[in-house]
Amino acid sequence: MMRPCHQFVLRVFCLLLASWSVAGQEPANAAKIALRAARMIDGKSDTPTNKPVILIDGEKISAVGAGLAIPAGAKVIDLGNVTLLPGLIDVHTHVLFEIDGTNVSLQDVSMLKVVATQSTAERALLGAKLGREDLEAGITTVRDVGNSGVNGDVALRDAINNGWLPGPRIVAATRALAAPGGQFGHLIPEAQKIIEQEYVIVNGPESARQAVRQALYDGANCIKVIVNGSPANVTLEEMKAIVDEAHIAGVKVAAHAIGDKATRIAAEAGVDSIEHAYVITDDTLKMMAQKHIFLVPTDGTEQEYLNMTFGHRQPTPEERAEQEQWIKPYVAGNRDRLQRARRFGVPIAAGSDMYLTMPDEDRGQASLDMFDAYSAEGMTPLEIIHAATSNGAELLGWQGKIGTLEAGKYADIIAVPGDPLQDATTLKHARFVMKGGVVIKNETGNETKNKK
Ligand SMILES: [Zn+2]
Repeated sequence: MMRPCHQFVLRVFCLLLASWSVAGQEPANAAKIALRAARMIDGKSDTPTNKPVILIDGEKISAVGAGLAIPAGAKVIDLGNVTLLPGLIDVHTHVLFEIDGTNVSLQDVSMLKVVATQSTAERALLGAKLGREDLEAGITTVRDVGNSGVNGDVALRDAINNGWLPGPRIVAATRALAAPGGQFGHLIPEAQKIIEQEYVIVNGPESARQAVRQALYDGANCIKVIVNGSPANVTLEEMKAIVDEAHIAGVKVAAHAIGDKATRIAAEAGVDSIEHAYVITDDTLKMMAQKHIFLVPTDGTEQEYLNMTFGHRQPTPEERAEQEQWIKPYVAGNRDRLQRARRFGVPIAAGSDMYLTMPDEDRGQASLDMFDAYSAEGMTPLEIIHAATSNGAELLGWQGKIGTLEAGKYADIIAVPGDPLQDATTLKHARFVMKGGVVIKNETGNETKNKK
């Protein structure tokens, strides 16, 4: 663990470095870019724009519209028959954490093994790889909600912001707050240290406030709470103290909550989002709608859960039937709660909760499989697009910076083939990705030309 004084000196140095490089690198005539394509969904309007032009000046969008004049000297990127969209936002992921996704029965043990054997430095380097995979898939912003060692997510976020390596914008939670035991259940007392590498333990409202202050000191720009942990739960009084302390600092609170009791505690305390909520009552959903608390449905499809259980192996009919006994009702239950949430007007933001190695997919691809689940559960393509763009931005408190294609926002832009308003799963196949005005990938086969 890096000592606080080193961390402080490093961060002051990074700030100086960042301001120096921004001031030093901006030439008088910064190259302007004009992006053209067949269609655009700007994340704001319900209807697409045909033949859009997006003008980009430095890292921001300067103008958006159909038939805009392209300034002389601008670099023109004509992407052809694709649809432009805002960069995708995954509000629930674990960029510094990966365990074997091909044997669901071993996952509890795998988690312990990672925590006990991987240093924060190793996890940050893993995060560099997984973050790049997210970015290349079109996920230009993530909220990393824990399991990132001791503040590894802050280090990765700052490294990306400093231009040391490519990756998405990161909102970092540092260690999640939890009741004694975190999410590990009962371990021998000697294992306490392992739990504390992964969670900051909360014991009473005053300790809950201190845990938030610690997270802020550690560099968090959001707070994650495990409301129902294992074995113990965070209480309503503790939760209220956490929300109060975080909101005083202008930081949002994400609550992992499943079941009637935990979701109600989170909603009553006024958190900003409830994660998972696989089991939740109508009353709590209505309270979420009324308080504008986001639901982050970290759902998968039946096929995904089968893949997580068997990996590449073809199960026997008996094995498959045995797994389907729990998978089918689980998926049906998730669908039911998502339908109820939509009916009551609960705002929804897209979150993959990806931390598994999935067969034949990198992290970015595996994360975007959430769109298969949302489609199968009956969300419309436009709802899914909003959940993964403007709603995500609002949940992060970044609606002024990202989430829609508008003048003044960061030029975080993707292009997908076909029409995502007909089929939201096209969002899984970004052919072009730009973050902050920098082209991350362009697989459209179209060349860049300079406007004379
Ligand atoms: Zn999670």
